Amino acid sequence: MNENDTYEVIIVGGGVSGAALFYELSYYTDVSKIALLEKYAEVATLNSNARANSQTIHCGDIETNYTLEKAKKVKRTAKMVEKYCLQYGYQDSVMFKHQKMAIGIGYSECRFIKNRYKEFKSLYPYLELYDKAKLEEIEPKLVIDEHGNGRNEEIVGMGAQDEYTTVNFKLLSDTFIENAKKNTEIQTDIFYNSQVDDIKKIDDVFHVTTTDGKVYKSKMVVVDAGAHSLFLAHKMGHGLNYGQLPMAGSFYKTDRAILKGKVYMVQNPKLPFAALHGDPDVTLDGATRFGPTALVIPKLERFKPGTYIDFFKTLKLDTNVVKIFYDLFKDGEIRSYILRNYLFEIPYFGKRAFLRDAQKIIPSLKVSDIQYAKNFGGVRGQILDKENQKLMLGEATINTGDGIIFNMTPSPGATSCLGNAQRDVELICEFLGKKFDEDAFNKDLVEENNNE
Ligand SMILES: Cc1cc2nc3c(=O)[nH]c(=O)nc-3n(C[C@H](O)[C@H](O)[C@H](O)COP(=O)(O)OP(=O)(O)OC[C@H]3O[C@@H](n4cnc5c(N)ncnc54)[C@H](O)[C@@H]3O)c2cc1C
Repeated sequence: MNENDTYEVIIVGGGVSGAALFYELSYYTDVSKIALLEKYAEVATLNSNARANSQTIHCGDIETNYTLEKAKKVKRTAKMVEKYCLQYGYQDSVMFKHQKMAIGIGYSECRFIKNRYKEFKSLYPYLELYDKAKLEEIEPKLVIDEHGNGRNEEIVGMGAQDEYTTVNFKLLSDTFIENAKKNTEIQTDIFYNSQVDDIKKIDDVFHVTTTDGKVYKSKMVVVDAGAHSLFLAHKMGHGLNYGQLPMAGSFYKTDRAILKGKVYMVQNPKLPFAALHGDPDVTLDGATRFGPTALVIPKLERFKPGTYIDFFKTLKLDTNVVKIFYDLFKDGEIRSYILRNYLFEIPYFGKRAFLRDAQKIIPSLKVSDIQYAKNFGGVRGQILDKENQKLMLGEATINTGDGIIFNMTPSPGATSCLGNAQRDVELICEFLGKKFDEDAFNKDLVEENNNE
């Protein structure tokens, strides 16, 4: 093996996950030759783009579908993003503060929020409970209509007013690359317009081939290719017990700020995706965005040509997958949720149907206030666990143990980017016999008393 033309680590995919790993390797390890191969001409053009996702730092305080256990985990990684941004002074350029809350409407949802507040307050001491009068002060549109009339239903909120809530994950990815490149003592190469087509291990070295025929060699590979990670894993014969369902999410937007901060609703526990929410969009000068919706699409990337065949290959359609679909569809509530989400895409009718859902947040919202947000919304590659015949929620990783890792990163993958990268940095250092400067890492990125 010629050591000179072999990288120690190649990262496939320059979304926020790959960029975060690139940064951590260059800053906190003695790995000295790293390459990142990205399909497009810049980083974070797909799901990590600000227009593709909800821009939320999911730290577990207002996400009513998270258990306390899951909340503890995401809190640790969410705080890493916050500490990173504060370390470099990115507040108000990459990371933003707004009020945030989850609201309950009607007796049972209000009771749910009040109980959750009691349970979660110890983990998030800053959490506050808002009655109708307080809500009117913080987010008047939740309570008062355009005629000054109050909302009839019982409503309660649980949230915070002085926390960082929002990140432009595209800009965050750019900063990871920029800061990694500042370490000029090591070799950090980035190859744009380089779509990886094939990865083979020959004599302990991975040969990573791009569609233009170039071959890059490395001792270790991490595939952070979003919805494409499983596609590449399957190509190498890994993760065959998984299939993938590309779940797109669309948004509707207003042309002015209607909400001052993030308003989430109580999640229906039966539904596999986050409930609709409304919040200021950092790319739209604070105008309000509502969404995301959830609809299966037969491709891995939105608003780009191709990837239909890749979808069919990663779906791995067989009787197990059919059983997962059957189980989802036989439940009336899930069935009507799926169909309703398709309806939201249809001009004229979709907007009116969506309005009804958005009015749960803002009762005075009118059809003329909202418009379909064109070219907004990415794809969550939801993993199908074929062995257990279940749709998996959240992220998944395949560590083959022989030097290649594949990361599948639906929500909240952007929030977890630094935490996921830490996990991979530790695996890389162990595999290559390299050092991870954990003290420096913890000091810079981990919130005190949260180093579990
Ligand atoms: C509607 C929606 C709302 C969301 N809201 C939130 C939120 O509020 N907060 C949150 O934390 N998360 C959210 N997420 C999830 C979040 O967007 C993703 O978890 C995150 O962006 C994943 O980042 P990634 O780098 O792993 O993947 P991606 O951003 O998809 O990046 C993958 C990269 O790999 C490249 N690539 C693909 N194939 C190849 C190849 N063969 N060769 C080379 N390069 C390749 C792509 O070009 C791309 O740059 C949301 C997702 C959606 C769809």
